[in-house]
Order: sequence, then C-alpha cells, then structure tokens
Amino acid sequence: MSDPDASTPEPITGLHHVTGISGTPEENVRFYTDVLGLRLVKKTVNFDDITTYHLYYGDEIGSPGTIMTFFPFGGGQDGRVGRGQTSATAFIVPSGSLEYWQTRFDEYDVQYDDVKERFTERVLPFTDEDGQPLELITGNADIEPWAESDIPSEVAIRGFHGVTLNSAHPEQTIEVLELMGYETTDNSDNRTRLVGAGNRAAVVDVLNNPDDRRGVQGVGTVHHVAFRVTDGEAQHEWRETLSAHGLRVTSQKDRQYFRSIYAREPGGVLFEFSTDGPGFDRDESIEALGSELKLPPWLESDRETIETQLPPLQTE
Ligand code: ZN
Repeated sequence: MSDPDASTPEPITGLHHVTGISGTPEENVRFYTDVLGLRLVKKTVNFDDITTYHLYYGDEIGSPGTIMTFFPFGGGQDGRVGRGQTSATAFIVPSGSLEYWQTRFDEYDVQYDDVKERFTERVLPFTDEDGQPLELITGNADIEPWAESDIPSEVAIRGFHGVTLNSAHPEQTIEVLELMGYETTDNSDNRTRLVGAGNRAAVVDVLNNPDDRRGVQGVGTVHHVAFRVTDGEAQHEWRETLSAHGLRVTSQKDRQYFRSIYAREPGGVLFEFSTDGPGFDRDESIEALGSELKLPPWLESDRETIETQLPPLQTE
C-alpha cells in the first residue's frame, strides 16, 4: 500500500487535542474545571453543527497536548465504548499524587477503579459524569497546571499522557502510527505501547482485544483524536503521505484556533492532524479565555440565532 518513493515528513510529536461527546454542557464544565482543575479556554460552537457547543479545556493558554474538548449533547444517545474506538484518555499527574486524587474523587462522587501498574507507571482509571473512560498516569511533563484552580500545583494535571486505542485492526493501526513516526517501546499480552517523537502527550497504546464488542459512538465516548503538526506546510506533507498509504484524508478545515485535516485509520478511530497555531488567544485575551461565547467570523452574523438555539450555560 505504501508508496516507497513518498518521502516522510517530520515525525508527529504527540497529541494536539482529544474530543469527546458529553451530555449537558453545565455538568461537563463542572467536571473538567471544578473536579479536574482544567481551565475552560474556549466556549464556541461545533462549526459543523451550530446548535451544539464546542467546549475546550486545557492549561492556561490551551497548549497543544493539554486540550480536552467536548461536543455536549444534552439528552443525546449514550454511546458504548468498544472495539474501533479510543478506549481511554489519560492525563499526566506528578508521581505520588494518586492518593490525593482518590480522596478528591470520593469527595466529588467520581467513579474510579483501583490503582494499577502498567509497564513502569501507576494508573488510576476513572470516568466523568457521562461514563467517559479517563485515566490519571504518573510521570513528568513540561506543562504548568492551571494556577487558578483550587488543586495544589504539586498534584495537578499537566496535560495528556496519551490515549489507548481499542483498534479493530491493531496491526494496521500500528502501521499508521509507525508511518507517523511513533515507535514501539513496550508490549504486554494485549497492549502495544507506541511513543511519538516529542516529549509531550506522546503515548499511544494500541489494544488487541478481538473478543470485545464493537463500540458505538455517542455520549460518553471519544469522537476523535488530534495529533500535532507544526504548520500548514507540514500538514500538507502529511496529507500526501497518509494518502499514499491508502487513507482517505479530508481537505483542510479552518477550525479558527488551528487548521485541521481528518482521516479514519484502518482500526476505526478518526484521526485529526491540527496545526499548533494560531491558538486560542486569537479572539480573546489570555486573561479572558473561555469567558464569552466566541464565534468564527463566518458565523458572527448568525450570532443571535445561534445564541437562542444553544442550551443555557453558566460558566462563572
Ligand atoms: Zn478536533
């Protein structure tokens, strides 16, 4: 399938963002800001469905590698996490902090499992208010936590560790990741660990669970996983390379805070490749990020209609 003549662009360093589907927007904001201590860095709409919010959470400025985003569908159909999907999204926390988090989860009534060892790391699995599978994994990161949360900085979330993909075709998924510059670093019974070329949000684990049921997209599941590309030029090169590998890649979409292309990998997961810039401060000051409903220029003339169609959302 691969074209041996196609040169491979600069390797992918890690995740840009992860986008999930949630229930009511208010519950979603409460969980990711109050419980997890992330900053709401942007309140906008899904540009492909303007009756739905698109909420972005991250560090102070929404650095690539820290951004968890949601399309909240209040009253939407529940999904089912299974094969062909992202089966967990992991945040990185400093070593020794998992006990703090267990106590906090008890306080806030968050569902969590026992801490387990995975390769050399400690993992605390938990779920958000919609059953979205999440993990806290101990390790080091070059990210400063959001300083205005009430979580002490020595235990706070520092961006993503990575994601786990429950691929329907693990070998082919691994092939695509290797093409992207990821290298296999560990293996257990059903889990292959690949690490990207950077030192932030660089881990992708691929599961081989042939007996699992097929996942169903809906509330409580991940919609897509986005990887970082430095700029439009690198993105164009990746578009060529992925297409030469046989993937169907979309044209470039202007996502206002970054530009994106999309391709579904053979194991079932929708991959996005997003530019680092222009960033979340292009239409709001850093101090004001997330405080108002922001719309891209091409939707601004419909603001009144959009605002009446959106469900209420108090964020302060
Ligand atoms: Zn995205």
